[in-house]
Amino acid sequence: MSLRSIFDAAEIRAEFQKAGISTHFITFIWKHVIQNPNCEWHEVPSLPSAAYSLLRTKFKPLTSTLDSVFDSTDEVTTKLLIKLQNGAFVEAVVMRYDSRLGKYGGDPRPGGPRATLCISSQVGCKMGCKFCATGSMGFKNNLSSGEIVEQLVHALRLSHIRNVVFMGMGEPLNNYAALVEAIHVMTGPPFRLSLKKITVSTVGIIHAIKKLPTDIPNLNLAVSLHAPVQDIRCQIMPAARAFPLEKLMDTLREYQKKCQQKIFIEYIMLDGVNDEEQHAHQLGNLLETFQVVVNLIPFNPIGTLSNFRSSSEQRVTRFQKILRGTYNIRTTVRKQMGQDISGACGQLVVNLPEKRSIGHDHLTDIEDLHL
Ligand code: SF4
Repeated sequence: MSLRSIFDAAEIRAEFQKAGISTHFITFIWKHVIQNPNCEWHEVPSLPSAAYSLLRTKFKPLTSTLDSVFDSTDEVTTKLLIKLQNGAFVEAVVMRYDSRLGKYGGDPRPGGPRATLCISSQVGCKMGCKFCATGSMGFKNNLSSGEIVEQLVHALRLSHIRNVVFMGMGEPLNNYAALVEAIHVMTGPPFRLSLKKITVSTVGIIHAIKKLPTDIPNLNLAVSLHAPVQDIRCQIMPAARAFPLEKLMDTLREYQKKCQQKIFIEYIMLDGVNDEEQHAHQLGNLLETFQVVVNLIPFNPIGTLSNFRSSSEQRVTRFQKILRGTYNIRTTVRKQMGQDISGACGQLVVNLPEKRSIGHDHLTDIEDLHL
């Protein structure tokens, strides 16, 4: 039987309670593991003796290993390839910037060095979005909450992580219980990330969005909308059939009413599919009564199996102008980063044998975070 991750919070709490060990020791153990990821249980000081035997028989400090680290020449992006206990791989991406220099080349702001970690929640994904490398893998398995948190532990060895975005492999709301537990762990001691700095990206799993305000009040939500009308959505995101656009927008309105915060809208720009002026107007009409930030994402075709093409820069700019000028919607264009280290979400794992034989310095495709 494989051992559980010590960061599987519900498991370790239940085991400690069953054995009559105070759960107060858990934070202390987590802190030790974060600082000493390769530790053995007997090296954790000052635990009750019953705790050592329980830890040895049921838990591992880390169940996953950091298999490879790919640094981009942009000096901003680092991709982590993480091997899970079952032999599967997931990706996590660290993006560093110094706000005093301007985020990703933008205007300078007060602050200092920051890092954002993009996390995976599943191996593969069953949503099958046609433009996504992870979607082409199909669904393999859910990550446990501990495996989700371990991505943060690995990344903390490289950078001081301040923000976490669930935009890596998988649909986080399809792994709901583990997602909720992982976020509770990340925002509690000893990690103490601010909930304001955590964002979950979803294609729009309506029943799960409805539960979020109860389980994690005021969580930042990013919705991968990608089309302003249902038929185009279904064409590029087959899973959207189960989540009609009208119902999704009603659910988001309700979410916004409860959480009182803006929602991020992700919109991938596909040439001739969803990037025409009429689409910008349809999107503007759909969103003008919401508090949203629209993020236009230039499509990266490299390494995906789809036949889509990227929209031209002029089309992206025109789209942005319509949303801003006519509908007064804050609209940004995502800058591509880490172009030399790997493709959009899932490409590193999808092309694993090829990538590993090529080696660290010669990877040629492009990272543009999960969409
Ligand atoms: S874009 Fe996200 S939801 Fe769609 S297939 Fe890829 S990982 Fe899954």
